Amino acid sequence: MTLPTAQDAGDSGASLAIEGAPPAKERPDPPMYPGGMAIDAAEERAVLEVLRTKRLYRFYGPQPGPSKTDELERAFAAATGARHALAVSSGTQALICGLAALGVGPGDEVIVPAYTWVSSPEAVLAVGAIPIIVEVDASLTLDPQAVEAAVTPYTRAIMPVHMRGAPCRMQELLDIAARHGLALIEDVAQANGATYRGRRLGTLGDVGCFSLQFQKIITSGEGGVVVSDREELWQRAAMFHDPVGGRRFRVPSERILWGINCRLAELLAAVALVQLGRLEGLVGAMRERKKMLKVGLRDVVERKGLQFREIPDPEGEASVALVLYTQGPDVARRVTAALQAENISATMLYAPDQPDYHIYSHWLPIMEQRSWSHAGGPWIWARREIRYAADMCPRTLDLLGRAVHLNVNPLYSNEDIEQVLDGATRVLDRLT
Ligand SMILES: *Cc1c(COP(=O)(O)O)cnc(C)c1O
Repeated sequence: MTLPTAQDAGDSGASLAIEGAPPAKERPDPPMYPGGMAIDAAEERAVLEVLRTKRLYRFYGPQPGPSKTDELERAFAAATGARHALAVSSGTQALICGLAALGVGPGDEVIVPAYTWVSSPEAVLAVGAIPIIVEVDASLTLDPQAVEAAVTPYTRAIMPVHMRGAPCRMQELLDIAARHGLALIEDVAQANGATYRGRRLGTLGDVGCFSLQFQKIITSGEGGVVVSDREELWQRAAMFHDPVGGRRFRVPSERILWGINCRLAELLAAVALVQLGRLEGLVGAMRERKKMLKVGLRDVVERKGLQFREIPDPEGEASVALVLYTQGPDVARRVTAALQAENISATMLYAPDQPDYHIYSHWLPIMEQRSWSHAGGPWIWARREIRYAADMCPRTLDLLGRAVHLNVNPLYSNEDIEQVLDGATRVLDRLT
């Protein structure tokens, strides 16, 4: 096919949709819910099966035999290569159970990235511990040097977050954790199915925590999974997620601890199980499409001195997004608006005046150390003074402020890709 060129805009001289030319993409992008958009008769059948057997609860019901939640845990462990998996009610609860399993509690410090969904630091707060917020680098994941510099005698764990599908610099982080005797709890909410040096994310650290919320790669609307190779950690997480988990998961009675309830519902486990079967296909589709986009944009990116986000293991990433760094926030804003006019679903990652709970400076309840209890906390349990400030991670804000984010939609056809490339190339040529 012949790609439209600037001349096609005719006499008006307009070459971009934002100036009145026809948009490069004929249709707006489909919504970016990879697993959600894939829901079909298989999920329907799975839900109906649960309803018809009336087995709506994991541990009992009129039908004997294994529950959907049991099946999901076995399948999740097999898919990731982890020895154990525990299904829970959300990704946030997966992190909380993981931290509880590791014995992280009041006064302990946990290192988290300045760019992550707010649930990562909130899980730390939920167990009474202190999130220590550190810079990300051009990979938009934890900067190992910043992590090393943030370690204190009170640090108990590091929480790498594999943002927007890309693995963190795991080798460096594993080395730091080993050197300082720290636990590693991976937040894999946004990178289910991705690998680092051939190993599935979530299985490199002590525990790995996944989300099945609707925006994630596969979904049951709500849900989460904790994986670990260590039986003791899995048992502790299981005890925490169920008030009688100790008995149910055969923990010797002298080691049984109290727990809360954040179990996954059977109906959701049934959906998650079908979705797990779609994971490889979805990630494969996104990887293929991202490679085409990256190859197609390489010329203009080099010509204009722009940079792609650094990906610590490009072969392994889940490829949900393509991020480009422009020269500055004004350029990023203009490019994003122009791409949107071309029917390309571009977004900026940070604007100071747009509240967004992915960026630490917008985490007001945390930045201001607000407390649920009249007595205060968890910061009053810190063993040193903790200070947060909106400008404490300038590198993170600079990177995010210059970034333009494109979805890599698994539903893109070849024609869609060609049109994205055409529109993005013209926009970047003109505006950067
Ligand atoms: C979505 C998300 C979570 C929380 O998962 P929920 O299932 O919504 O509780 C945690 N961390 C990251 C990075 C996320 O994107």
